[in-house]
Amino acid sequence: MEYLRLFDWYHTNKRDLPFRKTSNPYLIWVSEVMLQQTQVDTMLPYYERFIKRFPTVESLALSTIEEVLTIVSGIGYYKRFRMLKKGASYVYSNLDGILPKTYDELRKIPGIGAYTAGAIMSIAYNLAYPATDGNVIRVLSRVYEINDDFRLDKHRKKLDIFNKELIERSNNPHDYTQSMMELGATVCKKSNPDCKACPLNSICLAKKHQTTMNYPVLSPLKSKKEINYFVFILKYEETFIVRKRTEELLNGFNEFIFIESDSLNGALLKLEALGFDVVIYENYPKVKHVFTHLVWHMEVYSGISKKVPDSYLTIKNFSNMPLSTVMDKLIKTTHLI
Ligand code: SF4
Repeated sequence: MEYLRLFDWYHTNKRDLPFRKTSNPYLIWVSEVMLQQTQVDTMLPYYERFIKRFPTVESLALSTIEEVLTIVSGIGYYKRFRMLKKGASYVYSNLDGILPKTYDELRKIPGIGAYTAGAIMSIAYNLAYPATDGNVIRVLSRVYEINDDFRLDKHRKKLDIFNKELIERSNNPHDYTQSMMELGATVCKKSNPDCKACPLNSICLAKKHQTTMNYPVLSPLKSKKEINYFVFILKYEETFIVRKRTEELLNGFNEFIFIESDSLNGALLKLEALGFDVVIYENYPKVKHVFTHLVWHMEVYSGISKKVPDSYLTIKNFSNMPLSTVMDKLIKTTHLI
């Protein structure tokens, strides 16, 4: 590995990112959680808002999950923030609010897996633990022309062991992790990698053999499950009828009335069986939302209900509450609020 060229390149070209300028393990933890599934440009304003509101482990631990979800409302993949909050509560209650300095202790914290522990150990404490994310997988698989299928856990684990050897040899775990992440994000991109500007171009086998686009090897994803929903935006007097989700997906978010059905008639019968007494006024363009493993197709209707079943709530407006991206889309499509 061309460590010196890599580190020189990093110090000259790194982006000006707030979480790359700190050794505070809590801030690095928050940033790594936010960067999972979210591009830097998108996560930055959320990150700034989050650390302003929750600047310490203690402030996050003492908050409510609703407060946390309100701050990150719109970013998506909310389970990670539940885990972050759970992790902060664990650190606050069991470790005096101080993140531990050993890998094994970090791994005991709810929500901190191998990748996040490696990122905290190497970036915050300059210790040689690997953080092998998608960017790093792409760079290493190209530099060494590794033909393993990285959709499979066993191959990711094998590469993590190799990455550990590389970071140990680097003599600079902090710079190694950051520069590999930055190289994958800005130069060795999925399409059109800028090999001319790359500090590893003299050793990169994929560049030498012009096979860059063959790496990383990833077998096709399983197709996503598709669900048809009828969504009813119903008013009761001057309020909207909503339900607080208890399912794992979007847990804790309020939503309009979602009925899984293949026909409007079927959906209306289910509404009646739930205890609603409905008059429908209008229907709107269909809305689609894609999750990691699911696709929701939503047919949207508005109207009133003369009854509100016990398991539903009524709210006057949607300000100061966490809103999922799905709800945001529904509200924008209907212009009802
Ligand atoms: S030389 Fe090209 S393919 Fe190889 S690591 Fe650099 S950017 Fe990626």
